[in-house]
Amino acid sequence: MARAIYPGSFDPMTFGHLDIVKRARKIFDQVIMAVVANPGKSPLLPMEVRMRLIEETVNDLGGITVGSFQGLTVDYAKENETFCLIRGLRAISDFEAELGMAQTNKQLFPELETIFLMTKAEYSFISSSTVKEIVRLGGDVSEFVPKPVNDYLKQNFSRGITE
Ligand code: ADP
Repeated sequence: MARAIYPGSFDPMTFGHLDIVKRARKIFDQVIMAVVANPGKSPLLPMEVRMRLIEETVNDLGGITVGSFQGLTVDYAKENETFCLIRGLRAISDFEAELGMAQTNKQLFPELETIFLMTKAEYSFISSSTVKEIVRLGGDVSEFVPKPVNDYLKQNFSRGITE
């Protein structure tokens, strides 16, 4: 059974991520969406919420599981005996960092391949950072995120975030 890991912060999951995971499922029997606990970033949503919202979004699609990890992606791939990583590319500006990451991962785990998938043009400008910025200012992100994510954001941040 061909299996791949799609790692990311998914803070929160967007239509861009959804498009990529659907494309990945056409190639692989199983895709693990792995939420990265990145201590360097201060997330908008706690890990459990990010995972739950992904689960609710991909539940009906089949063949997609949700996991989480701390530390190196290569270690998570080894633990799950998975030899393929999925990454999404929005624009040429993503490429440089992604190329460096793919080459580093290959050095650390030579059996690992990284596959890049391009999103639909209409989703290519969507990023979790933009969504968070709009949420902070109390705006509507329903065009950018799946329904479970939008419902959660509306319930919890309808007036934006004032720090
Ligand atoms: P990270 O913090 O690891 O970049 P993200 O959650 O921002 O995590 O993104 C995870 C992956 O999804 C990355 O490969 C990123 O390039 C890709 N991605 C994010 N948004 C989009 C989008 N709109 N279209 C295509 N790929 C995307």
